Amino acid sequence: MWLQVAVCLSCLLLGGQGQERAAFYRSNDRNSRCQYTFTVASPAESSCPTAVGGAEMDSLKSRLTLLESLVSRLVGGDAGAVGAVPDAGLQEAYTQAMGENSQLQRDKERLDRQVQELQRRVEEQRQETERLLARPCQAPSAALQDQRPASDPAWQHGSPGYQELKAEVTEVPAPKQIQESSQENTGCGELVSIGEPVSHRRAEGIAGKYGVWMQDPEAVAPYGTQMLWRINTVGTEVRELFGYEDMDQLSLGFPTKVLLLPEPVESTGATMYRGSLYYQRRRSRTLLRYDLATESIASRRDLPHAGFHGQFPYSWGGYTDIDLAVDEQGLWAIYSTNKAKGAIVASQLDPNSLEVKKSWETNIRKNTVANAFMICGRLYTVASYSSPNTTVNYMFDTATSESKSVAVPLRNRYRYNSMVDYNRVQRKLFAWDNFHMVSYDVRLGKPEAN
Ligand code: CA
Repeated sequence: MWLQVAVCLSCLLLGGQGQERAAFYRSNDRNSRCQYTFTVASPAESSCPTAVGGAEMDSLKSRLTLLESLVSRLVGGDAGAVGAVPDAGLQEAYTQAMGENSQLQRDKERLDRQVQELQRRVEEQRQETERLLARPCQAPSAALQDQRPASDPAWQHGSPGYQELKAEVTEVPAPKQIQESSQENTGCGELVSIGEPVSHRRAEGIAGKYGVWMQDPEAVAPYGTQMLWRINTVGTEVRELFGYEDMDQLSLGFPTKVLLLPEPVESTGATMYRGSLYYQRRRSRTLLRYDLATESIASRRDLPHAGFHGQFPYSWGGYTDIDLAVDEQGLWAIYSTNKAKGAIVASQLDPNSLEVKKSWETNIRKNTVANAFMICGRLYTVASYSSPNTTVNYMFDTATSESKSVAVPLRNRYRYNSMVDYNRVQRKLFAWDNFHMVSYDVRLGKPEAN
């Protein structure tokens, strides 16, 4: 035992030669047991630290105080100081959100009030419409025509309301510049006046900016006399023909028949006659007769020398080179040729074979007028497609082969009239004015000789 202690002590003494000396003590403790003690000097301190309370203790106290302070703040004792910055941001965001919420509530209440106001006005309009429908037709002032409901009961041809309306029309004074013989208003005559446009339907999509709508004056089965037809003509492959059971269904936009034409349509010049749709085939002078009953092309023929696809359009363009029309005398084509040098040619066509029966060359340049239509064998032209207050400005009479200037006012309410045609049964002009399918009453009579 002692040997081992001596060896260890020697090692310590040898290993600590470069250091301070080591001391070894042996003594009895208070219980009289032997106790060995050895001491080695600190390599870093020249003497033992002094009593408790020295610089190190001060430092420890200082650090402990700091630590206690941090612990206290972390556990919440002084949380306000630690969390002050983020809490302020949250508070600000919360205040802002509450403000926005209040504003949204106010906006919602304002919109709710607007909706209620609109609903009230719609209900008033509906009641007014019902009231107008319920009472007999009165003298149709221009203002009343403007307010006529889209369903337009006057279109129920042959109904008492329609007859009464027409009877009242004869009592409206004629324009000052034209004296009318009222007894001749029941049959063919020259165009005396055109009523205010009545809008029946607004086309839904961009394809409906231009178009043509029609009613067959000599409808045959399977479609009735009230059937209306419509083609939106914007696009390169126009083939869809929509059929509506009557004016109400057209106004509501509910077609009862949709036909896909076997060959594409060009222009807004199509027309409906004796159970067939007549139209110009796209990019050609070919006229087609599409039979509605068999849903197939029944005849086709080129219109001799006719310009097409932008050669001789109306003033608004739109490839309106060949315009077909139907009046009391049958089927017509309104167009031009190189030989006519852009002047309007009117040809009467055989409705079965599409052959030209007879042609008239006018002195009206086709590209200077907006549209044309036939009434009682007379061709009329519209001066402007965009002017809100334009006129029918020329009339060419195929009976005399003479033309003359006229000035029958016509309103382009929507300022882009792409189609105008006459319906002899309704005695109305049908037009397509900037998405709107509109009609105008017309009055025929004998103008004062001049
Ligand atoms: Ca026309």
